[in-house]
Amino acid sequence: QENLDRPSETRVFVVANQKGGVGKTTSTVNLAAALTQLGQRVLVIDLDPQGNASTALNIEHRQGTPSTYELLVDGLSLVDLAQPCPDAAGLWVVPATIDLAGAEIELVSVVAREQRLKKAIDAHPRIGSAADAGEDRFDYVFVDCPPSLGLLTLNALVAGAEMLIPIQAEYYALEGLGQLLATVDMVRAHLNPELAVSTIVLTMYDARTRLAAGVAQEVREHFGDQVLKTAIPRSVRVSEAPSYGQTVMTYDPGSPGALSYLEAAREIVAGGRLS
Ligand code: ADP
Ligand code: MG
Repeated sequence: QENLDRPSETRVFVVANQKGGVGKTTSTVNLAAALTQLGQRVLVIDLDPQGNASTALNIEHRQGTPSTYELLVDGLSLVDLAQPCPDAAGLWVVPATIDLAGAEIELVSVVAREQRLKKAIDAHPRIGSAADAGEDRFDYVFVDCPPSLGLLTLNALVAGAEMLIPIQAEYYALEGLGQLLATVDMVRAHLNPELAVSTIVLTMYDARTRLAAGVAQEVREHFGDQVLKTAIPRSVRVSEAPSYGQTVMTYDPGSPGALSYLEAAREIVAGGRLS
């Protein structure tokens, strides 16, 4: 445990990529846990009906558990929905249940349906500036999005200021990114002028293959400083941690995956304005 400076204001990260299986959830839960090891307080909001982030963080999310469905559809408050993560002090989670799968349709007739998450985040007394939100404020919020660009992801893009895009270092890595970035532009123009792609993380990186190195180089040429210097290696320890209800940060803290997520978390901390 180490205590890095906390940001002067809560940083809200939207973890999105409409491609499935690129490491959104894995990066969300492990960066969140890594940040708590650096003395940061973190809230994870699971916005994927699959509830994989909830599973990985060992958070109850059986159907009927108060969750992001109640947040979006019934307007319940974030404060009432967040559960403490047993795996990491300072980490709280709003789970997702399978009920969320119906939310996109149920919200169609709701006024300002794309603003529901933003409203909830804005209303949270522990999210905001150091002065307003106090010592036990959240320093980071991570919203783990489903693999689509529907109303759930749109709610996240409206609510957050920083977007974190995990990119899997493989052949088709850049395919579909154009559509994602066009969506970001649309949201910035009409719904959330603050939104910016602040962070790109290369995942499942296999340093032994020339293909991965080539993809990494292409991503770095295209996005420059937005790409974290630390790439997350492909590691079986990372993929087996969730089946133990743990993040790799506690499951195998000395493993290359855990060390990389810790280093990536340091980069994220260093990239913000600190108090
Ligand atoms: P997404 O949320 O984008 O759909 P996940 O985070 O669920 O993607 O990852 C997809 C799969 O890849 C999961 O089975 C996960 O365990 C595995 N995975 C993710 N990152 C790594 C890694 N660094 N090394 C090995 N497996 C990984
Ligand atoms: Mg996921």
